[in-house]
Amino acid sequence: MDHLLVVNAGSSSIKFRIYAVLPGDRLDLDLKGAFDGIGAHPHLFADDDHGRRVEDDAFTAGQVPTVAAALDRLDDWLLERLGGERPVAVGHRVVHGGPDFANPVPVDDAVIAKLEALVPLAPLHQPNNLLPIRIIRDRLPGVPQVACFDTAFHRGHPDVADRFALPEALYREGVRRYGFHGLSYEFIAHRLAEIAPDLAKGRVVACHLGAGASACAMVDGRSVESTMGFTALDGLPMATRTGQLDPGVVLYLVQAKGLGAAAIERLLYRESGLLGLSGVSADMRDLEASREPGAVLAIDYFVHRIVREIGALAAAMQGLDGIVFTAGIGENSAALRARVMERLAWLGLVADPAANARRDTVVSAAGSRVQALVVPTDEEFMIARHTLATLRAMAPAG
Ligand code: ADP
Repeated sequence: MDHLLVVNAGSSSIKFRIYAVLPGDRLDLDLKGAFDGIGAHPHLFADDDHGRRVEDDAFTAGQVPTVAAALDRLDDWLLERLGGERPVAVGHRVVHGGPDFANPVPVDDAVIAKLEALVPLAPLHQPNNLLPIRIIRDRLPGVPQVACFDTAFHRGHPDVADRFALPEALYREGVRRYGFHGLSYEFIAHRLAEIAPDLAKGRVVACHLGAGASACAMVDGRSVESTMGFTALDGLPMATRTGQLDPGVVLYLVQAKGLGAAAIERLLYRESGLLGLSGVSADMRDLEASREPGAVLAIDYFVHRIVREIGALAAAMQGLDGIVFTAGIGENSAALRARVMERLAWLGLVADPAANARRDTVVSAAGSRVQALVVPTDEEFMIARHTLATLRAMAPAG
C-alpha cells in the first residue's frame, strides 16, 4: 500500500499525518498527530485510524527546546510508523510562496533557495517550514516532496487587493498583499461546495480564528480579498501579534524610543495581540475564564475588529451571503461566535443560539438572510490532496 506523509511545521508545533493512497487516489487517514508545546511543554501524541491514541509522550522544555529538536525525535519515530517503507511523497505546508508560487510545487534545490529568500517575510514560520524539507531530503533521498503555500489561494486577487499605495517599484520587487491561511480557506471552499453548494457559489467571509487569525472574502469559492497582507501580521489581532497597526507607530518606536528591528519584531509578533492587550494570556480559553479588565478588553477588541473586517470584506464583495467560523477559537468558542453574530444583525444575520451552543454546522436561524456556519478546517487534508495531484502530474500513472 502506498502512503503519503504530510508535515505542517509551525512556530511551536509540528502536525503530521500519514494517509494511505487507495485506488482512484482516495486518501484514507492512517495516523494523525502532533508535537506541540515545543520549548514550553513539549508533547508528542498520535491517534490511529480508529481514533485510538498510539503515542502520548511528554518532554521537558530542555529536552525539546526547538522545532529542530522535535524533528530530530520525530523523524525516526515516523519512519518506524511507516514500517520501513518509503512514503510515495511528502507534502509540506509552507507559509510564504512569494510572488512566484501560485500553486504547489515539487521541491528541488532551486525551489528551496527561493523559499529561503522569503524568510524575512515570515520569520516566525518560514524557517520551521523549510527545516523538515531539508531533513527529509537528506534522510529519504529521491522521495518527492511538495511545498504547498498559504499564500497561493490568494494569488488571483484583483490588482487593487494585491497592492499597497506605495511606489510601483516596491510592488515589482515583491511588496504585495499576499494573504495567508490559504490552505485553510481553500479547504473551507472545498467543504462548502459539499455541504452548502448554493452558499459556496455566493459571497462568503471565512474567519480563521486561531492563534493566528484572519478573514478572507470568497466569491464562488475563490479568494478576492483578505485581511492579511505582506506578512502574517496585518488584519485581525492574534494571540501575540498586533494585527492592523498604523505604520506611524513603528516610526515612533524607532525615532522617539530608539528601538531596533529585533525589539520591534519581538513586540509586534510575540508581545502584542490578545496577550499584550490583556496582560493575562494569549489563549482565548484563559481570557474567557478571567474577570481581569484586561481580559475583557482583549475579547471586546477581538470581536470589534472581526466585525469591522467582515463589514469591510462585505463591502469589497458588494454584499454578503454567509460567514464561516473556523480554527481553534472559531470552532470552539460559542460565546465569541454569538457576539460576532449579534453585531452582524444589521447585515441580515439572525443567529440560532441553541444551534450555536450545540456547535451545529449551521448556527444562523432558518430564513436568516446571511447564513453562518461552523466548518472545522483541515489544512493537512488540503496538503495531502495537492501533494498527490502534484505527484501525479510529475509522473503520470502508467
Ligand atoms: P493554531 O493557529 O496554533 O493552529 P488553533 O487553531 O489551535 O491555533 O487555535 C488556538 C486558539 O483556540 C487558542 O486561543 C485557544 O484558546 C482557542 N480555543 C481552543 N479551544 C477553545 C475553546 N473550547 N474555547 C475557546 N477557545 C478555544
